[in-house]
Amino acid sequence: MRFDIISVLPGLLESPFAHSILQRAQKKGIAEIVVHNLRDYAAGKQKSVDDYPYGGGSGMVMAIPPFAACIEKLKREREYDEVIFMSPDGETLNQNIANQLSIKKNIMILCGHYKGIDQRIREIYVTREISIGDYVLSGGELPAAVLVDAVVRLIPGVLSDETSALSDSFQDDMLDAPVYTRPADWNGHKVPDILLSGNTPAIEKWRFEQALERTKQRRPDLLA
Ligand code: SAH
Repeated sequence: MRFDIISVLPGLLESPFAHSILQRAQKKGIAEIVVHNLRDYAAGKQKSVDDYPYGGGSGMVMAIPPFAACIEKLKREREYDEVIFMSPDGETLNQNIANQLSIKKNIMILCGHYKGIDQRIREIYVTREISIGDYVLSGGELPAAVLVDAVVRLIPGVLSDETSALSDSFQDDMLDAPVYTRPADWNGHKVPDILLSGNTPAIEKWRFEQALERTKQRRPDLLA
């Protein structure tokens, strides 16, 4: 699976993709993540990517030409399943959306800045708009990194223990059960006996009950 991310601050995206599971997925050749510097597609000496908003008001707006040049170049090279704009007014990212995207082949992601991008870019090129939550960040790079991480860890072969993604929170509209590791007794704080029993079916049942209880307590909306 390939991601092409268009950003005016590509440096912001270096570290998130250079560690842990995302790094491993790229080394294994399962995921390819390419960041494009929007400024490389800007004309003129200033390499400017933004301009004053029509109608006045505060904040700058990202202009059409650099985005159009970069998007169209990429579209000539391959077909994209989705062109996603990270935006606080998009649909809120959840595990279901991550699952849907994890079976795609090529995804383009646009990162906004300032007041956002010219509305016409959204109308002409964008197929899906995704928010990572009801708060506003200063740019689309961190949201893009969140989206790519959520999607890539679901691609088969990325996680070493493939079932571990399946038992994560939200995967079946349930939160995950609590987890423990050694020592079994920490200053009198003990691991539940059942987990030391070696009785796999009983442990599975306990985990399910714990997950259900936790979901009822914390996220009853998931069960509705
Ligand atoms: N004026 C816009 C916010 C612009 S913030 C509004 O009120 O909707 C600048 C950029 O950061 C956005 O264009 C978007 O790409 C990104 N961004 C900020 N918050 C985000 C969020 N919660 N989810 C996804 N992208 C976000």
